[in-house]
Amino acid sequence: MNSNSKPNRVLVVGGTHGNEFTGAYLIKKFQQFPELIRRSSFETLTLFANPRAFTQVRRYIDRDLNHCFSRLDLQNTTLSGYEDLRAKEIDQMFGPNSESPIDFIIDLHSTTTNMGLTLILDNDDSFSLQLAAYLSSINSEVKILTFGYSYPPNRNLLPLRSLGTSSICVEVGAVTQGVLSAEIFLKTEALVHAILDYLSKYNAGEIPSFKNTLTLYKYIEAVDFPRTNNGEIQAMIHPQLEFRDYQPLYPNDPMLLTLDGQTIPYKGNSIVYPTFINEAAYYEKGMAMCLTQKHQIIMND
Ligand SMILES: [Zn+2]
Repeated sequence: MNSNSKPNRVLVVGGTHGNEFTGAYLIKKFQQFPELIRRSSFETLTLFANPRAFTQVRRYIDRDLNHCFSRLDLQNTTLSGYEDLRAKEIDQMFGPNSESPIDFIIDLHSTTTNMGLTLILDNDDSFSLQLAAYLSSINSEVKILTFGYSYPPNRNLLPLRSLGTSSICVEVGAVTQGVLSAEIFLKTEALVHAILDYLSKYNAGEIPSFKNTLTLYKYIEAVDFPRTNNGEIQAMIHPQLEFRDYQPLYPNDPMLLTLDGQTIPYKGNSIVYPTFINEAAYYEKGMAMCLTQKHQIIMND
């Protein structure tokens, strides 16, 4: 977001992936009780992004909806899968050329990994960094992850939230796919309210200038399982690494365990902080985990 502009229209999205029930049911709740997300200085809209996949308790029907938002794909009339058509509908409702272009998108996701309360930061402008610093200052459980502000690496596979001028992705776990967990639901709901309250304060010019250190986990690379020629995995996450998202992994620490019991160590030469460790949805994407580096940013007032 441009530092001079104020959000007028905010979109809260859930069910982008149909088997992530936290966001899906939060949107159902917000649609039933819209006063909960109403704030006086901007309009808050909701989107239940992939209703058909939700009904079938699947991530997607034909392809990942969160890969369908490049202009090229949105304008490609030959793409006719369910998610491609749905993406075009969503773009017509909320895209930059629609009647309701969105200034800020909050996209709600959940994960099978132990990432706790993760916020994926898409932009490194001062607005986004201040928001991240604010959210991590009010809740020490909040982790800030960034894919280097050029997310996704493949510009042909843009996520839904790229329709907004600015956005944030909420990724909360661990929770099983197709399961509604009250604890995860309440934590995610609290984060949504904290973000909306921040936007209210921002619009009112009430953001306190505070000196703070912001910890950012910056994506370096994805690591896949070793696989056979036909794509079957030949190893699993090492038990010493399982559930240790954002914990330091040192050179030669155990990383994977082959089916026949051999440990595959981390072979890099510097400390990394793995996350998305053993995400169920990423087996098909060829990712066993993402490696990140930990950075401290001193926020100036
Ligand atoms: Zn998701």
